[in-house]
Amino acid sequence: MTAHRNTYKTKFAVSFAAIPLFALLCASAVAAPQVSRLTPPSELFAAGNPNAPYIARFLPGQRFDLQATVRLDTGTTLTGFEFWVDGKAVAAPAGTSSIVTTGLSLPKDSNAAVVSLRAYSNLKPGVHRLLVKAVQSDGQNVSAEGNFEIVALTRGGQPVKNVIILLGDGMGATHRTAARIIGRGYTQGKPQQMLAMDTAPFTGMVMTSSLNGIVTDSAPGMSNYVTGNKANNNQEGVFPDDTLDAFDNPRVEYLAEYLHRTQGKALGIVTTADVFDATPAAMAVHTADRGRGTGIVDQFLDDRHLTGLSVLMGGGRKWFLPNTEALKPDGSRIGQAMNGSQRDGKSDYVLPQDIVTGWGAKPGAVDPQRDLIGDFQSAGFAYAPDLAGLKSATQSGRTDKLLGLFAYSNMNVAFDKINKRRGASTIVDDYGFPDQPMLDEMAAVALQVLSRNKKGFVAMIEGASIDKQSHLMDTDRWLLEMIEFDRAVQVAKDFAATHPDTLVIVTADHECSGAAIIGASTRSVLEMRAATEQPSVEGLRDKQVGVYQASRFPKYSIAADGYPQSTDVDNKMLIGYGANADRYENWLANATPTQDSQQPFYKQAPQSAYPASPGQRNSTTGFHVTGQVPGDQAVHTATDVPLSAFGRGAKYFTGVMDNTDVFFKIGQAVLGGVR
Ligand SMILES: [Zn+2]
Repeated sequence: MTAHRNTYKTKFAVSFAAIPLFALLCASAVAAPQVSRLTPPSELFAAGNPNAPYIARFLPGQRFDLQATVRLDTGTTLTGFEFWVDGKAVAAPAGTSSIVTTGLSLPKDSNAAVVSLRAYSNLKPGVHRLLVKAVQSDGQNVSAEGNFEIVALTRGGQPVKNVIILLGDGMGATHRTAARIIGRGYTQGKPQQMLAMDTAPFTGMVMTSSLNGIVTDSAPGMSNYVTGNKANNNQEGVFPDDTLDAFDNPRVEYLAEYLHRTQGKALGIVTTADVFDATPAAMAVHTADRGRGTGIVDQFLDDRHLTGLSVLMGGGRKWFLPNTEALKPDGSRIGQAMNGSQRDGKSDYVLPQDIVTGWGAKPGAVDPQRDLIGDFQSAGFAYAPDLAGLKSATQSGRTDKLLGLFAYSNMNVAFDKINKRRGASTIVDDYGFPDQPMLDEMAAVALQVLSRNKKGFVAMIEGASIDKQSHLMDTDRWLLEMIEFDRAVQVAKDFAATHPDTLVIVTADHECSGAAIIGASTRSVLEMRAATEQPSVEGLRDKQVGVYQASRFPKYSIAADGYPQSTDVDNKMLIGYGANADRYENWLANATPTQDSQQPFYKQAPQSAYPASPGQRNSTTGFHVTGQVPGDQAVHTATDVPLSAFGRGAKYFTGVMDNTDVFFKIGQAVLGGVR
């Protein structure tokens, strides 16, 4: 009997305790403030698990913002807050903290306050407990707990002076293998030669997920490498928050910012994309919206004192040209500016005061009329508008700062640039930029200029359209992007050979399109063309796709310029896509690229005559391939990507690693040194 009573009492006690807790979580009418977000993110806060892997990790002294969202009871306000680390209140220097209660992205009628303390840092390695405490106007208190880790460095090795990250956007293992087959050739099962990236002494695999999905986009894909922390998709250099402002998110100090602040290193960014694009921006710009072009390019210049930005090269001139035409009342553009400018008020930035004070950032301004090229020049940058300008900018004088803008938006791809140089096509003229450099030419100049900084540099060199043409399933165009990218790898490899204090990393931010080398055509080019005249699944697939030994060894001849004479060869290598939208496939090189909606004049002739999407391209010459994903493009995948490393510290980059691990390996090599 006694035992039974005790059991009953215990059960009663448990359910009695559970009732008010349940009511608290479900009924907002019950009064008590709650913390719904604590930043930096942790599993301790999100799941109450103190033993889960630490989500937020930082180098000793690396700066980041502390933030919490406090849900308040109706009719109350927040009267105070403090952040505590390891049982001690964190001091907030004047002007570095804020309480934001309007402009929130929470459901309407929410009563909440987003509290921030900017530019915190911690030197002590180990796991730290983070607490936020807040007081509501009726006197009720709330607190919540999370954690973060400061990663220890091993000191006393030989430091790396220069870091070069070659980022093949969307470049999976398939892209690398395909480039080797086309660019080097195989016989009796062996490649005749290796790609430059293949010759790296150390290679590993990288897990690419973002903070909010197994499949990343390019913003966190790059940001995670150079902050050591996971970002949400579409966000770079920040943690997510509950405000609408895309430029007020909690920041994480970038590799380049940290190394410029502590060592005076310079930053170089080279891309074949528009320079506002996610990968280049995720080296230096802090924003929750990768689409905010005007603000992103402004921040490149405005915050160069924080990042050390000294070289910026790529496309994207549309953001730098003053837009002096009338705008809508909300600041957005009315149609197309005559000079190609796409600056407007809606994509511009103004920072809150606590970020300006805490980080020492420039406040920003809404200024669509800004002449940003002129401002770069006033700041001491030489400006190159084309390949000829790039050559003269480096020949005349010894500039240590260089801006190169070679297209309105994304640069033309290698396939079309090379065909222009060979006199075989005038596609680049359709975009208005007949004299664009190749990525290896840009990389060589960038490294020459950056190496003038005696304290070293961080350079990011991106082959951007490996990804963009994979999205479009334009096989021949991404294949040549791969060849172009590998030529840039060779430039970096050569630099490291003469500068032994240099670390070179060759990797991707994610795989794109689920590309696969499925085999090769069983037919000659003439037969392949004939099969497109009356396209059918039987003719173009069943009779043409050679698998296993029927693929044999496709033979491409490489011209003196380093690129294939043609990608349409007898027994051509064939690529399939596993993350694809619907498309028409005829296996032949497409005469024109697909329309690029980022180009300011893409709706006008001649670009408007290009196919609008892979779902429309080749609809009269190809067979229809039904995709597994909606929309009209292939998508990124969660597949791990290879990483290859040369030079000092390369040995750290083996095994299977998280993309955030790469940051700490670089940190070890530069700050701790290599033994
Ligand atoms: Zn990407």
